[in-house]
Amino acid sequence: MLSVETADRRLSAYDDYLDRSHRDGIRNGADRLDGERIAHVNTTADGGGVAEILHALVPLSRDAGVDVDWYVMEAPDEFYDVTKTIHNGLQGDHTPLTDEMRETYRNVTRENAAALEKRYDAIVLHDPQSLGMASVLADRYPDASLLWRCHIDLTTAADTYLEFVRSQLGPIDCTIVTHPAYAEVLPDEETAIVHPAIDPFTEKNRSLEELPTDLEGSDPGEYPFDTDRPLLVQVSRFDPWKDPLGVVEAYRNVRETVPDAQLVLAGGMPDDDPEGIEIYREVEAETEADGDVHLLTNLPDVGINLLQRSADAVVQKSLREGFALTVSETLWKETPVVGANVGGIPLQVEDGENGYLVEPRDVDATADRLVRLLEDDERRDRFGERGRETVRERFLLPRLLEEYLTLLAREVDR
Ligand code: UDP
Repeated sequence: MLSVETADRRLSAYDDYLDRSHRDGIRNGADRLDGERIAHVNTTADGGGVAEILHALVPLSRDAGVDVDWYVMEAPDEFYDVTKTIHNGLQGDHTPLTDEMRETYRNVTRENAAALEKRYDAIVLHDPQSLGMASVLADRYPDASLLWRCHIDLTTAADTYLEFVRSQLGPIDCTIVTHPAYAEVLPDEETAIVHPAIDPFTEKNRSLEELPTDLEGSDPGEYPFDTDRPLLVQVSRFDPWKDPLGVVEAYRNVRETVPDAQLVLAGGMPDDDPEGIEIYREVEAETEADGDVHLLTNLPDVGINLLQRSADAVVQKSLREGFALTVSETLWKETPVVGANVGGIPLQVEDGENGYLVEPRDVDATADRLVRLLEDDERRDRFGERGRETVRERFLLPRLLEEYLTLLAREVDR
């Protein structure tokens, strides 16, 4: 297990986004957690939504006075092949889960659990990758509360994989999910619903004027697209569930009406996602003849920020989606989103208010809504303003901090 360093954050910086009840809730949770030691465990410090959240949640919890550590597991590549298969199975894929895969999962999660050196009063295991640590942790720390934070949409999970997860949940005291529908899949478990949130002060989300001008990636001139022409963007890992090829199809359809439209697909390559490069190559082969489609990888945060602001509309055409932090990130920047009506996206996109919802495989509807936005400046502005309010009201970090501290305090008090 590797301990992750995080940059300091001050809760006082969030004053403008904290009303009295949030402030009291955070104070109360932190007081109840006084003297308790908390750990978060996941598999990557960079890339993907979980790392994004922990980089803010961990230092803010500390600033509130709570003793929190963050670890990432140490694992060979074959483990990530197994956990990606489990992730896909939980999203509905039917690839068999072999005995050998189960063995790899069991060995690596157990080794990591055995390697934890300090004692903790509550441990939050994020996603299926670390869930297998629970049984060893329960033996080692019988008094600790064990929580499983599942960021995945479980509603269409293949039976084998749902059973596999259920078989690991015995020692878990509380499972945290993003959407009430995900909890219904685990009727025998104690569950809590917590929506993810974004941090308004990161290089990804701050207004560009507030950031240093010499940051690498902050100059629009560095990018291959033309800022004077319509721009469509999807920011997502190169993953079949994010449907990058479906986005390309929708873009081609848009070009029939808006011939100068351009498309950027921006995706990182996180360490725990072995499928990324394969899908990237597929999308590259499909689009290399079109000089108006740009695939951008591993951009710095300010680059993602610039893209989400430069876009006339952002697409989130996922086929499955736990939450999609990218949607809140985009709405915060007053850019409308055309999102698939799956998982956590409809929690954020209000159809006809801050963007549009479309059925996940409906390329024509996706293209139609994108054209509506590209052709109507007033609509884009109105949706953009509403989008920022949606995020201000419901998806900013102080609310998430309050919910975590309240939940952890309840668990350690039991
Ligand atoms: N992201 C990024 N660079 C990329 C692609 C994605 O920084 O090239 C970030 C994105 O801004 C968001 C996170 O990775 O903060 C993805 O989270 P989301 O919940 O949308 O999807 P996940 O990857 O967790 O399925």
